[in-house]
Amino acid sequence: MSENLPTTFQPLENCLNCKHELESNANYCLNCGSKIKELRFNLKRLLAVYSESFFSLENTFTKTFIDLWIRPDSVINGFVIGLRKRYMNPVSYFAMALTISGLQVFVIKKFYPDALANMYGSEKTGFMSIAVLDYQTLLTSASIPLMAFIGWIVFKTLKKYNYAEHLILNFYAYSQYAILATLAGTFCLIIGWDYGIFAFVMIFMTIVYYTYVYKKVFGLSIKGLIFRTLFFTLMSGFIFALLSIAAALMMFLTGSLPLKA
Ligand SMILES: [Zn+2]
Repeated sequence: MSENLPTTFQPLENCLNCKHELESNANYCLNCGSKIKELRFNLKRLLAVYSESFFSLENTFTKTFIDLWIRPDSVINGFVIGLRKRYMNPVSYFAMALTISGLQVFVIKKFYPDALANMYGSEKTGFMSIAVLDYQTLLTSASIPLMAFIGWIVFKTLKKYNYAEHLILNFYAYSQYAILATLAGTFCLIIGWDYGIFAFVMIFMTIVYYTYVYKKVFGLSIKGLIFRTLFFTLMSGFIFALLSIAAALMMFLTGSLPLKA
């Protein structure tokens, strides 16, 4: 394995990172602080770097996942006020949720093809349902900006979060819910429970979890919680009704929804 190559590169004249001119024999760049005599890679170092980043990713993911259950305020308020290292950032966490749900689809298709038929009833819709399943998390995640908007309106009088910060909250809450739904859904399919009932339970769980997150993040009292939950439900009911009407109208106008005479 050990060829006759030098273990470090030739001394550099300028910093690779910021182009600052380097003093001879300096170990660190005086301008940006990056290390200069970088050791060359060998297989052992490559493995060490890889496993270090893998375990630190796994570690921050686990911490984020657990704390979004027991202290979501610490994760969400923490990120908003500038905590960066302890938890995964909301967008990476969302990417993680998409990855996990992608893995679920792979596992179901490969090992439980029959479960898909049970899940959606007839074979006729089989092709459609696979397509929907493939993009389920991605499709439903389109509701994140809308949910953030509703949250922004409902909690506006508290003057705590702006719209962007509500987006952060919703990225975290949505991803957490998606990861739970993926794990629980896979479990249901494997042991053969009714997926329809499961989906219904999960809708209820979503409402409970979002209420809990908002209560923690905004430090609501029980009275405030009931009031805002009602307000939130009415607002989202109203907005989703408007959207459904708009969608039906669009379908009617484009002719894909013919009305019976
Ligand atoms: Zn530099």
